[in-house]
Amino acid sequence: MQKRIYLCLAHMSGEEQKFIQEAFDTNWVVPLGPNVNGFEADLEAFVGEGKSVVALSAGTAAVHLALIGCGVQAGDEVICQSFTFCASANPIKYLGATPVFVDSEPETWNMSPELLAEAIEDRIAKTGRKPKAIVPVYLYGMPAKIDEIMAVAEKYDIPVVEDAAEGFGSRFDGRVCGTFGCYGVLSFNGNKMITTSGGGALVCPDEEHKRDIMFYATQAREAYPYYQHEHIGYNYRMSNICAGIGRGQMTVADEHIAHHKHVCALYKELLSDVEGITLHENPSPRFDSNYWLCTILLDEQLHVRGEEHAYCQAVQGAVGGAAGVTHGGGALHTECEPNPNVEAMRVALDEAGIEARSLWKPMHRQPIYADAPAYVNGVSEALFARGMCLPSGPCVTDDDVRYIVEQIKCNII
Ligand SMILES: *Cc1c(COP(=O)(O)O)cnc(C)c1O
Repeated sequence: MQKRIYLCLAHMSGEEQKFIQEAFDTNWVVPLGPNVNGFEADLEAFVGEGKSVVALSAGTAAVHLALIGCGVQAGDEVICQSFTFCASANPIKYLGATPVFVDSEPETWNMSPELLAEAIEDRIAKTGRKPKAIVPVYLYGMPAKIDEIMAVAEKYDIPVVEDAAEGFGSRFDGRVCGTFGCYGVLSFNGNKMITTSGGGALVCPDEEHKRDIMFYATQAREAYPYYQHEHIGYNYRMSNICAGIGRGQMTVADEHIAHHKHVCALYKELLSDVEGITLHENPSPRFDSNYWLCTILLDEQLHVRGEEHAYCQAVQGAVGGAAGVTHGGGALHTECEPNPNVEAMRVALDEAGIEARSLWKPMHRQPIYADAPAYVNGVSEALFARGMCLPSGPCVTDDDVRYIVEQIKCNII
């Protein structure tokens, strides 16, 4: 029986338990303490640029607090990359603000700087007000054209919140992603580049912003000998136990990133003679993706075994999820879905013990955001129709990659 090969499973260094044991031994089993401080110091050293980092309970919490840090309030508009996971956009709604979605450019698959400028101009013309923040994303780890995005943001003086949840350790022009904008979002969920079981962090410009974010992350308690609240706060701080896992993970972060890049290079080599399949790669040496997930595009003309039966059967449960609690009983199709050859390849790989996944469905095609303004060029929708993610994590061996490519090849007809 072939073992199952997952997209990106967590992989422990062995150091984690030492830090956790220390937390128990010193009775620091709370959402503050030496591991939290130590993990933040590790992250600050890792991202560089003199940034300050706050450890939080999730990447989603980091997006939420970054928007609060940018002054986003109910009724405001926030520009967000459409081609992303829902956690980039949902916190905009938590605040009662409106997301304005911007499509991608085809080279990095991330926010199009041209379309961003167009969107800002049009929002000002239509509403008389500037959007309050811009949220570009490093999808699958690929750096965005962040220099051009920053130039547009600076022209209009709008703060940027980089969603680097998938781009931990990716670089643009040698600089770590998440350090270009006002805030940078990191995630340490179970399937990310490094994990704290669940957790995230916010990269802040300086200590003053860090203190402000920490204030909101700890229920916004004012300086009195009793609970005094003058702002709405949140319970978003990372626990000292999770931070212990994070400190252990930081000892292997560089190894993990190197392994993801190695896996991508091996896919490139083995897929080079397969017609109709294109691996997504750094568009130029200025881009240095961590290749968190290796992704491919399938030509529409590529025929895959079983494609005539794609979508005939409902899937059990949702994508992405150990913790996925789903609603049952949906239709077999939606108005926007991957091509039949992509779905057939996913099913064929699944039967061969390989977890593959379609690309993230653009937010402007999600029912929850049907009414949100969107500036689109067709790029993210076309990618969603043709793309798929392949296993890329630290547990994926060279033999696994060879087996996966073999299975891809033998299902092409
Ligand atoms: C995972 C992810 C997040 C959220 O991080 P959590 O730690 O899971 O809350 C945000 N944005 C993107 C693009 C992600 O992939």
